[in-house]
Amino acid sequence: MKDKKKTDSRGILRGFGVFATIVGLLLAAVGLTMLMTDAAVDNNLKYSLAIAGIVVAVVGVIFTLAGIRKSKEEKEAQAAPIKCVYCGETNPAGSKFCRKCGKPTVKKCVNCGAILDLDAKYCNTCGVRVRKDS
Ligand SMILES: [Zn+2]
Ligand SMILES: [Zn+2]
Repeated sequence: MKDKKKTDSRGILRGFGVFATIVGLLLAAVGLTMLMTDAAVDNNLKYSLAIAGIVVAVVGVIFTLAGIRKSKEEKEAQAAPIKCVYCGETNPAGSKFCRKCGKPTVKKCVNCGAILDLDAKYCNTCGVRVRKDS
């Protein structure tokens, strides 16, 4: 299980972000509620609580977004080069067309739009039969 360390750190980042967002919103809600209900608490404390809550929530959102963005970058970095099934040319990851023969490197399901392997006979998302051409 330890070989998934990168995935875990992303998860922790996102988890912390979501947690901080929730805690921050709760703090802000408590502070604002006390402000509105004239609770027997010092006004400065109410404002501090509300502002601190908002700050923590914003930090939480930033952490959450950072976690999501990092996972996207890692996903792209991990993407393998695409080998053209028509001519065998190895194209850089993310290529949509073969740089040698110009044929498409990705095929989309006409029914559901899922991206398929070029040699797929059936869509592995919706099960529709894939045309041989296009
Ligand atoms: Zn090719
Ligand atoms: Zn499909």
